[in-house]
Amino acid sequence: MTNLKGKAALVTGSTSGIGLGIARQLAGQGADLMLNGFGDAGYIAELCRSLSTEFGVRVAHNGADMSKPEEIEAMVAAAEAAYGRLDVLVNNAGIQHVAPVDAFPVERWDAVIAINLSAVFHGTRAALPGMKARGWGRVINIASVHGLVASVNKSAYVAAKHGVIGLTKVTALELAETNITCNAICPGWVLTPLVQKQIDALAASRNLSVEEAGRELLSEKQPSKSFVTPEQLGELAVFLCSEAAGNMRGAALTMDGGWTAQ
Ligand code: NAD
Repeated sequence: MTNLKGKAALVTGSTSGIGLGIARQLAGQGADLMLNGFGDAGYIAELCRSLSTEFGVRVAHNGADMSKPEEIEAMVAAAEAAYGRLDVLVNNAGIQHVAPVDAFPVERWDAVIAINLSAVFHGTRAALPGMKARGWGRVINIASVHGLVASVNKSAYVAAKHGVIGLTKVTALELAETNITCNAICPGWVLTPLVQKQIDALAASRNLSVEEAGRELLSEKQPSKSFVTPEQLGELAVFLCSEAAGNMRGAALTMDGGWTAQ
């Protein structure tokens, strides 16, 4: 058990999917939360209320658009103002766009690089001064198996996620003599809205049911043929926050059902 009582965590892109799974696990260890991400205002207010009640922690939301550096800086400042500290930064927000390189819309390339890669830099550079001043911190970057291997039609995503792993290593090395660590988590397929869109597209293009398309997606890449869950990823993030993980620096940890073992 990792006691995060009295610590504060910011999880980007945590109104849904993996980010929400990680936020729940951190709150379960007692961390106060700053959530981020898009969504209906009523849903987000209810999410903050229900997490706060379930885990007995303070929960706030900041709607910063992760493609905008100045909004990311302001969000980090807001988290520090709300809780007097920011100890754990989980750079999770991400989007996908699928197209061949020579047909990839330039605007989608720019958006994927901004949200999946540059936002990790902006969040990290904003959070580090406070972590250094307090002498402790955890930066956890949600990369992907696509930070390690490629798939066709995912040029921007694969480039961004390889970049995240490089940035993770540099950040870790610069902090190597401190109590601040930086590591990346590399999930395989996780059944979230981001992946559901790809399953729906596969179902439509191959005239399959949604269930058949889900099985097809898994069997192409993920030997376990089962989805990794946001809860499992959240547990790994909690471990990275523990003192046992205090000398893990610059790692790219896969949780991918065997995808990259092949
Ligand atoms: P998701 O679509 O369920 O959630 C994405 C979250 O990011 C949402 O909260 C959304 O509101 C937020 N978001 C998107 N654009 C934003 C922006 N401009 N500003 C602020 N918030 C924004 O996706 P997910 O599958 O949970 O993905 C989370 C992370 O995990 C991403 O970085 C993704 O690349 C990575 N990942 C996902 C999988 C998978 O199989 N689902 C696998 C490997 C890596």
